[in-house]
Amino acid sequence: MSPESRNRRQFSRRSLLRAGSVAAGFAAFGRSGLLIGTAHAAETIINPFTGYSISDGWWDHVNRGSLGGIDYVMGVGTPLPACASGQLRIDWNNGTGGYTATIVMANGMRSQYLHLSGFNGGERYVQQGEIVGYSGGAAGAPGSGSSTGPHLHWHLVTAGGTRVNPLDYVGAGSGGTGGGLPLEDRRLGHLGTAGGWAHMLSNLVLPGNTTYGAFSPGPGQSPRAMANIDGVMMLVYAGSNGWTTMSSGLAMDPGAPLNVLRTPANASAQIFTLEDGRLWHTFDGNGWKKFPSSVTVSGNCTFSMTANGTDLHGLFNDNGRLFHVWADGSGWHKGDTQVDLQPGSDLVAVIQPDGSLQGLSLEFSRVHHIFGANGRWNRIPTTASLPTGTPIAGRAAYGWPQLVANHNGAITHVWGTSSGWMCVPTGQTTNPGRRLSLVPDVASASLVGLTL
Ligand SMILES: [Zn+2]
Repeated sequence: MSPESRNRRQFSRRSLLRAGSVAAGFAAFGRSGLLIGTAHAAETIINPFTGYSISDGWWDHVNRGSLGGIDYVMGVGTPLPACASGQLRIDWNNGTGGYTATIVMANGMRSQYLHLSGFNGGERYVQQGEIVGYSGGAAGAPGSGSSTGPHLHWHLVTAGGTRVNPLDYVGAGSGGTGGGLPLEDRRLGHLGTAGGWAHMLSNLVLPGNTTYGAFSPGPGQSPRAMANIDGVMMLVYAGSNGWTTMSSGLAMDPGAPLNVLRTPANASAQIFTLEDGRLWHTFDGNGWKKFPSSVTVSGNCTFSMTANGTDLHGLFNDNGRLFHVWADGSGWHKGDTQVDLQPGSDLVAVIQPDGSLQGLSLEFSRVHHIFGANGRWNRIPTTASLPTGTPIAGRAAYGWPQLVANHNGAITHVWGTSSGWMCVPTGQTTNPGRRLSLVPDVASASLVGLTL
C-alpha cells in the first residue's frame, strides 16, 4: 500500500491524529494567504462577457507562448461593452491582434479587446458598459489579425506594462467566481527549491471560493493543504494519480481565512479561522472538531498562527494594532503589544530556531520585522520593499524569518542578511494575485509550498 493510500484510509477513519508519520521533534508552521479580492487596485472592472463560453483560457494562452488572454466564443459583429470607464483608444493596425479597442483607466490599467471587425464611434472617454466596438476574428477578414475563427480576445495590462488576466480583476457579482479568480486559474501549484526554484502547476482545479493553508505531513514529503472549499473543510494531497481532495465533513464559513499548522505532538493539521468575530480552532481528535476560542477580533483583522512545541502562538493585526495571541494550559489569551500597524496589512508569525516568536509584516510598501526584546515589542522597517497587498507567505529561518512573495506575478524570495535585506525574484512566475502558502520547516534547507 502506498503511503498516500494508507493516509487516505486513516483520514477516512478520522484518525490522522494517530497516523504513523510523526517525526519526533518535527514542527510545521503554516499560514494562509488572506488577500482574496483585496489584492487589486480599486478601479471597478466588470466582466461584460459572462454570457459567453470560453474557448481558450488564460493558461491555455500562456502555455503556448502567448502573453495571455481570454478567448470568448462570439459571432462576428457582437457589440462589445466597455469593462470599465476610461479613455478609449482605437488601433487599426495592432499586428497579430488586428483591430484593437483599448480602454485606459484612471489608475493606468488598460483593457484590450482584439481581433475586432469594427468600432462604435471614435476615440473618446467611455463609460463602463458603453459599446466600444464589434467582435470579429473570422480568418482573413479585415481586423482579424492572426485569428483563425470568430471570437473575442480580452486581456488587461497593468500600469507597469504587465499583461494580466482580467478575470482576476473583475469584482464579485459581475459573473466572476467569488473573489474574482476564474476556475482555470484556481489550479493548485507546487512551489519548491530542490535543485533551483520550481513552480509546477498541478491538474487540481479548486472552486472560486477557496481559502487554504499548506502543512507538511513530514520532512521531505510533499506539502498538503487544508482548504475551505465553498464552506467545507477538505484535505488536499498528492496521490498516485495526481493531486486530489477529501472532505472532512466539517462545515466552515465560506471564504473564512485559514491558518494551518502541525504541532510536533500531532500528525494532523490544526486549522485556525476567523468567523463571527472570533478565532476558531479546528483539529482532528478522534473525529474533526471545531471549537470557538475566547479570542475576539474586529472585522478588519489579519493573522498568522504558529506553534512552539504544543503551545500555540499568533500575531494578529486587529484593525491596526499588533496583538500576541496564545494558547497554553490555562486557555487562550490576547495580549496588546502596544505596537501599531497599518490596518489590514498582512503579516507572518514564526517561532525562530532560538524559540522566540517573531514576525514579518508588509505595510507602507515595506517589509517590517516584528520581535520582542527587553520586555517590549518592536516593529522595525527593513530595506526590503514590496507593494502593500502583495501576497506573502513566510517561514522561520536562521537569522531572520523569510518570506516568499508574489510580486506582480514574479515569485520573489525575501530574506535578511547581516548586511541588509535581499528581495530577489526566483525566476519563477505566477498569476499576479495568486496566494502562496509555505511549509516553513526550519530543519529543511528548501522552501516548499503551494500556490493557488
Ligand atoms: Zn486569445
